[in-house]
Amino acid sequence: MITFSSPADMRAWADQQRSTGKTIGFVPTMGALHSGHAALIADAARRTDLVVVSIFVNPLQFNESTDFDSYPRPIDDDLAACDAAGVAAVFAPTTSAMYPPGFQTRVLPGSLGDVMEGPSRPGHFEGVVTVVAKLLGAVRPHVAIFGQKDFQQLRIITQMAADLELGVEIIGHPIVRDPDGLAQSSRNVRLSADQRAAAISVPHSLDAAVRSANDTDNVEAIVSAVRAVVIEEPLAEHEYTTVFDATTLEAIDTLAPEHRFAGKVRIATAVWFGDVRLIDNRDLFSA
Ligand code: AMP
Repeated sequence: MITFSSPADMRAWADQQRSTGKTIGFVPTMGALHSGHAALIADAARRTDLVVVSIFVNPLQFNESTDFDSYPRPIDDDLAACDAAGVAAVFAPTTSAMYPPGFQTRVLPGSLGDVMEGPSRPGHFEGVVTVVAKLLGAVRPHVAIFGQKDFQQLRIITQMAADLELGVEIIGHPIVRDPDGLAQSSRNVRLSADQRAAAISVPHSLDAAVRSANDTDNVEAIVSAVRAVVIEEPLAEHEYTTVFDATTLEAIDTLAPEHRFAGKVRIATAVWFGDVRLIDNRDLFSA
């Protein structure tokens, strides 16, 4: 496994591999790798000849500096995990390599960035889309894999790749969960034991939504079912729950018969446990 810290070196390697006919699969991450990331890496390996993983905690996408500062950065463990997973190259740039003096361009998501996580995290998606555009420019992958865990991010990046003709295939990978159902996240390590136990209320609340959606078309009632589960948990603080069209990300008020198919409508929620914010989402009607 080879590690690059400069975008130019990364691109030179990628161009060299491409010139020999090899295909490149890319998994962008912020490190603190867990088995969710490993699943994305395995997915990339099935689709392409060489897997590149980037590890970069992108300051542009954090709207709270404490969240950026406290983000876990176990780089040695991450490199060992990539090596063990058969990753060909890790791109781990420094902040100054990504954003040198004079850097000024931003890529803006359109209206897909204005809903759900958008209002809660001003500037977040602009930061994500800008860094992903830059990472794609350095890694030049044929395929890039993103998790459905960050469903809105996946949708926005898919749109960017199409709108800007980036020539990369964007793949969404299903959410990987702990055995008890909690979606894996690098932020989970910041939960105390009590908070970790309480966090199971998040996937349970989405289960309640799925049950409720079988009985009603009223989205307010479905969202109330989510809130009711979270409110039962004293360590949890509910931020938002939304039921939305999986393509347009527009909020849905009332379910219609055409919504009741797998892949049409999702539900997403954000819940705080102390200063840790967890997000989760799922298909409201699975196959
Ligand atoms: P992050 O390091 O949190 O920025 O995540 C890097 C990539 O891994 C993103 O595309 C995430 O959506 C994806 N990811 C993170 N956690 C999970 C998970 N539990 N299941 C599937 N994908 C995930």
